[in-house]
Amino acid sequence: TARRGAERYVLAIDQGTTSTRCILFDRRATVVAVARAEHPQSYPRPGWVEHDAARIWRDTRKLIRRALQSAGIGDDQVAAIGIANQRETAVVWDRATGVPVAPAIVWQDTRTSAQVADLDATLFRDRTGLPPATYFSALKVKWLLDDVPGLRARAERGEVLFGTMDSWLIWNLTGGKEHLTDVTNASRTMLMDLATLRWDAELLEVCTIPPAMLPAIRSSSEVFGTAVEVLPGVPIAAAIGDQQAALFGQTCFAPGDAKCTYGTGGFLLMNTGSTPVRSAHGLLTTVGYRIGAEPVAYALEGSIAIAGSLVQWVRDGLGLIGTASEIETLAATVTDNGGCYIVPAFSGLFAPHWRSEARGVIVGLTSYITKGHLARAVLEATAWQTREVVDAMNADSGLALTGLDVDGGMTADNLLMQIVADVLEVPVVRPMVAETVSLGAAYAAGLAVGYWSDQQDLRNNRHRAGRWLPGADAARRAAEYRKWQRAVDCAVLFSS
Ligand code: ADP
Repeated sequence: TARRGAERYVLAIDQGTTSTRCILFDRRATVVAVARAEHPQSYPRPGWVEHDAARIWRDTRKLIRRALQSAGIGDDQVAAIGIANQRETAVVWDRATGVPVAPAIVWQDTRTSAQVADLDATLFRDRTGLPPATYFSALKVKWLLDDVPGLRARAERGEVLFGTMDSWLIWNLTGGKEHLTDVTNASRTMLMDLATLRWDAELLEVCTIPPAMLPAIRSSSEVFGTAVEVLPGVPIAAAIGDQQAALFGQTCFAPGDAKCTYGTGGFLLMNTGSTPVRSAHGLLTTVGYRIGAEPVAYALEGSIAIAGSLVQWVRDGLGLIGTASEIETLAATVTDNGGCYIVPAFSGLFAPHWRSEARGVIVGLTSYITKGHLARAVLEATAWQTREVVDAMNADSGLALTGLDVDGGMTADNLLMQIVADVLEVPVVRPMVAETVSLGAAYAAGLAVGYWSDQQDLRNNRHRAGRWLPGADAARRAAEYRKWQRAVDCAVLFSS
């Protein structure tokens, strides 16, 4: 392959829930090469979701090499590596051998739902900005410590380490030298004090997690170490949770700026500036990002557990479609949902309800309903869940959202984007670089090593690719929203 001049690039690793991607960006934020691999989702029991962390590391190694090869560049042309990752997913591994002690417990996993009620909701909300839920890492780690024989004693002796996927990749890239995480990932464990940005001794004790197994907390944009494996000598200069990375990649640098990423789940984040805004409406208070020693930017987040994974379920679980994009074609065979609503509470309901025990329902079935109506209800489920989050965000922030920047795999679906604009009643905008998670990781890494000079430098790269305006029929939408809310009541009722 021809070697591209002497130009340098930033390599982003987006270790997502369904796939891992390695993307090379140039100074103008143009995607120069993409390498991607899906990894298996393991569902050993109802409510359980696991990943093979060793497989994910093997994929990452291969994808890094493949990205460089397809760009035709040498190792010395990589200025820095930035990591964005699926958040909360917990890996525990042996410090000496590097082998995970058990499958990684994924953020969607609800095996710990019985333990949620034992936690003091006020304490956790005040200290971490999060309501106790199966979603966050803490109970997943506790579950492993309780379940794997001898693990707690080994954790106390510092023989096994806990980390989210960022820590796991940094540890592996540095050949087992660095056990670190960033402040955004730490903020999702339910173990970090949101004000001090340190692990909280009391919460660790409540969750019976030995401090010796925890990574050290760093900012999102600084040199975490130098790669020893795969790209020896290249600095690892960013780690940031995927949703926060998208916020950064969308250049939501000012308080009030908001974005929604539609991938496996749906995640709406709003930058709230340097003081945390406590939510009274079921949103999460979390860290948006921290650039080196600068003040932290906090964020309000509305998390939707199931968005694109409902489409995956229609493909893999029901076999109604062969590829994810066929959901749009199928939904376009009808003009409305025929009265059918799907509430995909597969792993409980996240924002703004936080009902771990809720389960999914399909309501409004009559013999009139076809698979086209079901497909439409699938897309609408994502839009209505976004509407609930936006209503909560407007109430918490005291501002009315005036537009939404979107990204993620599902935004390839133009019909869905139109439905979201209709349901939210605000314009929806998709940027040219849809890979905003990777871009955010690249930006954070590039800033740390001086590849880009400042945030204005990043803003100049921003270009719009698509825009959808809300349609007119407000009365019909209001009636549909009431039906959706009744369907949500059914999902909550069904579990009890
Ligand atoms: P993640 O980063 O969470 O792994 P992605 O951003 O890659 O997810 O998005 C993948 C998700 O988007 C999958 O759940 C898939 O079902 C969904 N998806 C992909 N294409 C479409 C489409 N055209 N319409 C609706 N959903 C889609």
